[in-house]
Amino acid sequence: MKVLITGAAGFLGSHLCDYFLGCGHSVIGLDNFVTGNLDNLAMASKNSNFSFRELDLINGLPSSLPAVDAVLHFACPASPKDYFKYPEETLKVDSIGTFHVLEKSSRDNAKFIMASTSEVYGDPEIHPQPETYWGNVNPVGVRSVYDEAKRFSEAATMAFYRNRKLDVRIARIFNTYGPRMQVNDGRVVPNFISQSLNGEKITVYGDGLQTRSFCFVDDLVRGIYKYTTIEDPKYRIVNLGNPDEYQILQFAKIIVSLLGDGSEIKFEPLPLDDPKQRKPDISLAKEMLEWEPNISLSEGLLRTIDYFRKQIKNTL
Ligand code: NAD
Ligand code: UDP
Repeated sequence: MKVLITGAAGFLGSHLCDYFLGCGHSVIGLDNFVTGNLDNLAMASKNSNFSFRELDLINGLPSSLPAVDAVLHFACPASPKDYFKYPEETLKVDSIGTFHVLEKSSRDNAKFIMASTSEVYGDPEIHPQPETYWGNVNPVGVRSVYDEAKRFSEAATMAFYRNRKLDVRIARIFNTYGPRMQVNDGRVVPNFISQSLNGEKITVYGDGLQTRSFCFVDDLVRGIYKYTTIEDPKYRIVNLGNPDEYQILQFAKIIVSLLGDGSEIKFEPLPLDDPKQRKPDISLAKEMLEWEPNISLSEGLLRTIDYFRKQIKNTL
């Protein structure tokens, strides 16, 4: 298969490049580095089946791009800190940008895999969240640039499915972590680990009783690969994530105990519209893809800590 991956230099995009290349496919990566990093592509770049183009998806795709068999649309700032910093870019890449890649998929008759998110459920009133839940999103809140852009991308994807018979698959990805997250991207895993490694206090927002469910990147990438390669999927929208749920304060204590450094915790204000609970119902993924995460939180965190330790050492 020849695969086009947008957001290839990002955290998830770069792991996907490596995984697809490792399975013998050809990969074309696209990125404008707004939140990505060329270093993430060090492994992919050694593979002769990999090519890369630096471009901003909002401006469209060059006609010189070869035809592909699948398009994985992962370009979009994903950390709240990043999409607060780039609100317009976030809205555009998951609307105008999504249209450009949908048109490319349609021209090539290629499968289209959309990186959607648990954020489409907003601050959920149903727990855990099944794919049938329509969500509880503040359409004008600070997170709306991301949440509504993703909801728009889902609507656009389904329009191409219904009107053009495009073979689409929407993956609603829940909090995923692992090596290659940017140390300073502001998400909870890089924040807590880097604070702990730097001997700083760990910043828990609010009372820390809000919950998240954390999936290690290798599990997620394996799920995306299965969803991409399955023929004639029964479900066009699937949650992918790890259903093990933790309160954020509990999560901070787990990281402190894994690092064994006795870091202190300090409480800071809860950001606006921060969802109070989040946990995926992964019944559909289990049934259709025979997929579920199998890397434990402590194993995933130890591998991530190892990565951040090296990153921090290299910047000293
Ligand atoms: P990331 O910020 O590391 O990667 C996003 C990549 O997209 C970056 O390399 C960035 O430079 C690139 N990009 C952004 N706008 C672009 C544009 N206009 N043109 C070209 N490239 C552009 O984030 P990530 O965590 O790897 O997330 C990747 C995708 O997965 C995103 O679409 C995100 O919404 C989705 N997702 C991620 C998570 C998660 O927990 N990591 C959860 C849900 C959904
Ligand atoms: N969080 C925190 N301290 C931090 C960073 C995040 O307590 O230094 C909390 C945040 O308020 C949220 C959860 O951790 O409740 C997950 O935040 P993240 O930004 O990683 O992702 P989100 O799921 O909110 O998009």
